Amino acid sequence: MKETSEASTFSCGRGEARGPHMETIVGTDVTVNSRTYRWPDRPLVVVCIDGSEPDYFTRAMAAGAMPYLSRALPAGTNRLADSVVPSFTNPNNLSIVTGVPPAVHGICGNYFYDRDAGAEVMMNDPKYLRTGTILAAFARAGAGVAVVTAKDKLRRLLGHELSGVCFSSEKADQTTTAEHGIADGLGLVGRPLPSVYSADLSEFVFAAGVRLMQNRPLDVMYLSTTDYVQHKHAPGTPAANAFYRMMDGYLAQLDALGCIIALTADHGMNAKTDAAGLPQVVYLQDVLDAWLGAGRARVILPITDPYVVHHGALGSFATIYLPAETPAEDAIERLTRLPGMEAVLDRKEACRRFELPEDRVGDVIVVTERHTVVGTSAARHDLSGLDAPLRSHGGLSEQHVPVVLNRRTRREPGARVRNFDAFDLALNRVA
Ligand SMILES: [Zn+2]
Repeated sequence: MKETSEASTFSCGRGEARGPHMETIVGTDVTVNSRTYRWPDRPLVVVCIDGSEPDYFTRAMAAGAMPYLSRALPAGTNRLADSVVPSFTNPNNLSIVTGVPPAVHGICGNYFYDRDAGAEVMMNDPKYLRTGTILAAFARAGAGVAVVTAKDKLRRLLGHELSGVCFSSEKADQTTTAEHGIADGLGLVGRPLPSVYSADLSEFVFAAGVRLMQNRPLDVMYLSTTDYVQHKHAPGTPAANAFYRMMDGYLAQLDALGCIIALTADHGMNAKTDAAGLPQVVYLQDVLDAWLGAGRARVILPITDPYVVHHGALGSFATIYLPAETPAEDAIERLTRLPGMEAVLDRKEACRRFELPEDRVGDVIVVTERHTVVGTSAARHDLSGLDAPLRSHGGLSEQHVPVVLNRRTRREPGARVRNFDAFDLALNRVA
């Protein structure tokens, strides 16, 4: 699996020798989910910036809020990529760390209807994950690996079978060596525990990343933030630019530590409001109840997660389980006529087009256009926590995300770049 040599290949600018007896571990390539990744010759940091519509970078740099990135980009990579649809957090984070779409790794939402269990459940449990991760594979091959995520909901999926550090900002005060690979996450960072609804929750991720990179011999690090800021603030606004300025400061520190940095996003973000600034919502369960009878169809919103205050569980993607006697084509024909629909597809077509697992998707999939979201029943969505006009994601209109590296990468002519190519670009295609 790996060789040892006298050469200090993995000092990575930090002057640290690795492994017992001061020898250096030189790993070989690692193959995960049919893709082969070269062993990093310097520490790699992949960052998933939650909800980072490409305009956030563009506007922040234009405003002078990202001096490091503005300096680094001429010798780096700045491309547009496609995220996974549904453009939600869990499917995309898992695609990035596995290098494959949800049809392969199995995580197709934050929330889904588990047919076997006959229950609607959060998709946070690694039992739903059908493949290994790039992170776990590198750790298994001897690499130093660390993961820091803002929200704890992603921690067990990202840390599946990972021997290394893996903890969340949200629960940094509860880390143990046995469970998280670090005894005192809060002490490491030296900042107070942030609120789950705050920009601080993401800043804590970056601060932890820098500390870990300073203190440990790491080869691969994955950082995942939260989209609290992006849900509330449009690109170019003062609060958005302040968030990207904060991030830029930490990226500069990671660069100074010798890291290759690859930034991408799980999805973009758009205003989901009408001309009056009110949420533009189609309540699908109400519509289907009126057509088919109360509770006959089941509408699943895969955006649903334990933290819904800032979006009210409203997104641009839904999947519908129909009663046995209702043909999908009849429902599709009627749903297509609703306002704000971008694509209404049957299971087979949707899973083919979006690379989703057929056994975890309903009979019909609904994707709404840029400024419209879908809900279940009006009575089931608490919008009282929305203190800013609704911004959300989930559809094709939030599929464009940036892929930014502080190194130039070779371009494959005509090839579509995905956010889940981030590890491949950073490890295999640096020019
Ligand atoms: Zn997200």
